[in-house]
Amino acid sequence: MCFFCKNHLAKSEASVEHLVASANGGSNNDENCVACCKAINALFGSMSLKEKIQIVLNQKGHFKCPNGAGTRAPAAEKKADPAIPKKAEPKTPVAANTKEERIKLVIANLKQRGNSKPRTLKTLTSTVSSLFPKQLSQNELASLLQLLQSSGQVVVKDGKVSYAL
Ligand SMILES: [Zn+2]
Repeated sequence: MCFFCKNHLAKSEASVEHLVASANGGSNNDENCVACCKAINALFGSMSLKEKIQIVLNQKGHFKCPNGAGTRAPAAEKKADPAIPKKAEPKTPVAANTKEERIKLVIANLKQRGNSKPRTLKTLTSTVSSLFPKQLSQNELASLLQLLQSSGQVVVKDGKVSYAL
């Protein structure tokens, strides 16, 4: 099961994420390793744990600390009420199934890069492509880049890229 999205992982989609990246001295111990989708592992790269948590929070929406204010009722309580028919809760979508989610991931990744964002259309294209290994067709990749530009957050002029994130 993916540690982040809780989706069942086929072996071909599964990877081991080092929470503290190996490049940052993270160990191979169980407490530093989680199974997860390849896509999120690729996105995380060797980001710091802090950056990773930020991305997870951005994906998940508003996080509530379990301080008693607005915590969710435990699942067991829900079941106890027979008046409410049990509904299948919609599954959290895999990190990047829709164009919107992909754009979000790309923007988040670009923001993480600070001043080392891709400066040419060519490097931007390969950067975006590497965020979604084996997921995007050439057409999807092109339309993703088109969307980024039409959103005004990415400006491409004469093959050179600038950002308004
Ligand atoms: Zn996942």
